[in-house]
Amino acid sequence: MVDVDGNVYLDFLGNYTSMIHGHGHPEIVAAISAQSARGTGYAAATPLQIDLAEVLCRRVESVESIRFCNSGTEATLNALRAARAVTGRETILKVEGGYHGSHDLVEISVAPNPLRAGPASRPLSIPEEPGIPDSVVAAVATAPFNDASAFMEIARRTRPAAIILEPMLGATGTIPPEPGFLEAARTVADDTGAILIFDEVITLRLAEGGAQELYGVRPDLTTFGKVIGGGLPVGAFGGRSDIMELYAPPEPTLVQSGTFNANPLTMAAGLAAMRLLDADAIAMINRLGRRLADGLEKALADAGMAGQVTGEGSLRTIHFTSEPVRDYRSKATADPAVQKAFHLGLLNRGIFTAPRGMFVVSTAMGESEMDECVEAVRGVLTLLAS
Ligand code: PMP
Repeated sequence: MVDVDGNVYLDFLGNYTSMIHGHGHPEIVAAISAQSARGTGYAAATPLQIDLAEVLCRRVESVESIRFCNSGTEATLNALRAARAVTGRETILKVEGGYHGSHDLVEISVAPNPLRAGPASRPLSIPEEPGIPDSVVAAVATAPFNDASAFMEIARRTRPAAIILEPMLGATGTIPPEPGFLEAARTVADDTGAILIFDEVITLRLAEGGAQELYGVRPDLTTFGKVIGGGLPVGAFGGRSDIMELYAPPEPTLVQSGTFNANPLTMAAGLAAMRLLDADAIAMINRLGRRLADGLEKALADAGMAGQVTGEGSLRTIHFTSEPVRDYRSKATADPAVQKAFHLGLLNRGIFTAPRGMFVVSTAMGESEMDECVEAVRGVLTLLAS
């Protein structure tokens, strides 16, 4: 990337993970160009959306049927509404630190002030900003990530319509699930009759079948976004056919309207991107991500700085805290001033990352980019340590 002042950056953010093949990949550009000449919206289904739906249903085993929308936000909104419709219940259960987009029901306890968020094992539901109705906040229960017994206790008490979670926390810092945690969410969803929704907007890239394949836990519904649109705006939700059939014509119980749903440009770009993202491509970026994480860990140790690297595959985050990072509260012990200086230091050295310390690997990269990034990190850490 080149900024308006002519500074050149290696893009280790990839528009928050959506640009998995880098910028301007020739096959994706060609797919978009060809479709743009044919038309960019018809208010009718196209073969492109069938093809992309088939690709996703084939790859993600739990997804028997899928519907497209325009963002991850719309995907979680629709999946939660479907869960409420099938269960006839209102409450939803989300994880403290879980990010699911920007609609009211999920802009709750994403990054609350820990001093005001109640006990770690029984977190309060805190709206992220003014404007979210109290009635919505009251309909959301919050539970800690990676604390199976607290999570199950809260789910049993609140009997939610839906349990929604990212199989690996994303915005809170690419924090993987500990063994047994996702299984506990599955068990308590079954026990309480809740619909288990995995938000794989970020994590789909970790394996052909997404994080649910990697960790071996099957949700009822899954939400998608980012990479499935080849860099264009996109979302999708799908899963159990008995739930998705509620949308089926001629007399649907649930309606998912939207002028740009399954937009042909997005479908064309998404199909090209998913075809490029085969098992070999995923294995390659996962290997590069491992190399990067090893380099970052070594750089921290050599600089003598308190910190750690969390993540999986092509998604890695550096946290400046000595407390093991396993949930929102432990992540919140990281020093924000150090995090900010680290981010700015990397920009000065030509590495474009998330301000929160996330590094995202794309298929346009190789080992030399990982090593270049680690060298830049070494430079910044040396400066910070002194
Ligand atoms: N869910 C997750 C896990 C996300 O990371 C994001 C976006 N970062 C969203 C949902 C929302 O997606 P969008 O920005 O496309 O609305």
